[in-house]
Amino acid sequence: MRNRLRSVDQLLRCFPVLRGQPSLVRAAEKFPLAITPYYASLIQNPDASDPIFQMCVPQAQELNDPPFLCDDPLEEDHDMPVPGLVHRYPDRALLIATSTCAMYCRHCTRKRVAGARESSISPIRLQQVVAYLRQHPEIHDVIVSGGDPLTMTTESLERVLAAVRSVPTVDIIRIGTRTPVTMPQRITAELVEMLRKYHPLFINTHFNHPNEITTESTEACTRLADAGIPLGNQSVLLKGINDDPQLMERLCRALVKIRVKPYYMYQCDLVRGVEHFRTPVSRGIEIMEYLRGRLSGLAIPTFVIDAPHGGGKVPVLPNYIVSTSPTHTVLRNFEGMLVSYPEPHAAAPAGPPAPGAASPGVWELATGRASAIAPAETSRGGRRRQRHGVSAAEQLF
Ligand SMILES: *Cc1c(COP(=O)(O)O)cnc(C)c1O
Ligand code: SF4
Repeated sequence: MRNRLRSVDQLLRCFPVLRGQPSLVRAAEKFPLAITPYYASLIQNPDASDPIFQMCVPQAQELNDPPFLCDDPLEEDHDMPVPGLVHRYPDRALLIATSTCAMYCRHCTRKRVAGARESSISPIRLQQVVAYLRQHPEIHDVIVSGGDPLTMTTESLERVLAAVRSVPTVDIIRIGTRTPVTMPQRITAELVEMLRKYHPLFINTHFNHPNEITTESTEACTRLADAGIPLGNQSVLLKGINDDPQLMERLCRALVKIRVKPYYMYQCDLVRGVEHFRTPVSRGIEIMEYLRGRLSGLAIPTFVIDAPHGGGKVPVLPNYIVSTSPTHTVLRNFEGMLVSYPEPHAAAPAGPPAPGAASPGVWELATGRASAIAPAETSRGGRRRQRHGVSAAEQLF
């Protein structure tokens, strides 16, 4: 933490090729700059072709300020019954425990908090939060977030966890942290020993790119997982960094190997300074289309858009329901196979295909006249043919 690059001068000393870019200084004045020596060491090329560079080094495009971007796009400040606690959903609340992060992500959604000044929740504020949690026994899940709570001293973080744990109606505690990615050396044996006292405790971290999965970050996740802490990952889709189906597949496969379950893949929020990172919603859907079927279900995140105006997270999926009738729902799978699922008490198949139809269509599936339409050639069909000597389609009809 002490050795972070915190000024443009320090940055230029490490990356002299960046000299002579006045926009770098202006961007760093607008949004805070901090890069840990470790994270800086992951930069392979000090330019915009490098995903690590893009996530941590201020860029001229951050100064682009279209009117639909704002400081608090999720309107979290409107859902704070007490300072520092966002209560948006019925059964869970998010506690902003600190405004400090090890590294300030250029794409951060909580820029109005993170790095604005580096401080942690005061004992009085924490008491107010605990009082609110006691008055709201419907809150069963508290997310300790920020900023990045693992930048706090072990003692201060323990004060927060102990306070939250003192509320009997809080079942689970979650910590949202990017420290395993940006400063994995923080995950010490001492920290882990403290954390494991507060089970059931979950941690969600924030890997965005396979280059972030290193010996050090693997070691950090291993220590946490070995302490029985289930680990999840929340990625943000970022243009030119991870908005690519094959790259996302690589990331998700690498995450489950280090026992981190891909949890959410976020559409970029409408926060100031991120316009150059935003991707169309269709890209996220395309990535989900690519992952489903190809990749272990365990490795597939949910694609969510955190809706503007505090609407909360909305899951977005490709369309898998092709048609419905009172008796059947027609689904399609990742291969393009169409399958008819009969509803309970579905009437018996209602006769042959429509007169003159050469082969069944979607209507025949929706009315129970046929049960599936399979693509002629799939690798699965090939495997079946090898075993039975007949095509998948021949077996079905
Ligand atoms: C994301 C978020 C949560 C947690 O949502 P889950 O879908 O349960 O992970 C809770 N509160 C706020 C304000 C959030 O932004
Ligand atoms: S670690 Fe999280 S809170 Fe901190 S700057 Fe990055 S995205 Fe924002």
